[in-house]
Amino acid sequence: MSDDIIEAEYEVMENIEKEKKSERESDLIIIAPHPDDEIIGAYEYLTEKNAFPIIIYSADLDAKRKESTLKLKEHVECKVQLFQMTVPQPFLTPENKFLFPDPIYELHPNHRAWGFMGEQMARNGFDVTFYSTNMNAPYIHEVEKPDEKRELLEKVYPDQKSLWEWDHKYFLFEGYCKWIF
Ligand SMILES: [Zn+2]
Repeated sequence: MSDDIIEAEYEVMENIEKEKKSERESDLIIIAPHPDDEIIGAYEYLTEKNAFPIIIYSADLDAKRKESTLKLKEHVECKVQLFQMTVPQPFLTPENKFLFPDPIYELHPNHRAWGFMGEQMARNGFDVTFYSTNMNAPYIHEVEKPDEKRELLEKVYPDQKSLWEWDHKYFLFEGYCKWIF
């Protein structure tokens, strides 16, 4: 399973590199340290029509969790889901839009570490927007269709249900913030 994923990722990145050289199209790239962060933190972008996002999860997840993330594709049209320790070189183009967890308001150390990477990229001129998963950031708003967000969470990540079952903030809210330097 893991070898298959690595091989598939390699192929995808090679193709994206070729594609980039020829036409410079732009991609939406969502960084999700853990499977479920992409839905909790970036539902509105993830489900936007014709978004076809590329989703990058942390590479150090166990095989079972990696496998369950691939179920997302049955419900959301995404270009590819990858497991990486950093943003792969071919994606680092000024045309791409990146969504990272917030490096300041997030509490989980992995979120902050990825968020810090996003901050560095933003300071280097890349198009970076930050999102929240703990909903403690000052830029949070109510999700328009919280029932649909909850339903997607439950379809893709039923094992994680205890997280949002009693604490509804995970599907009621969402928020985005762009830093201007
Ligand atoms: Zn997480």
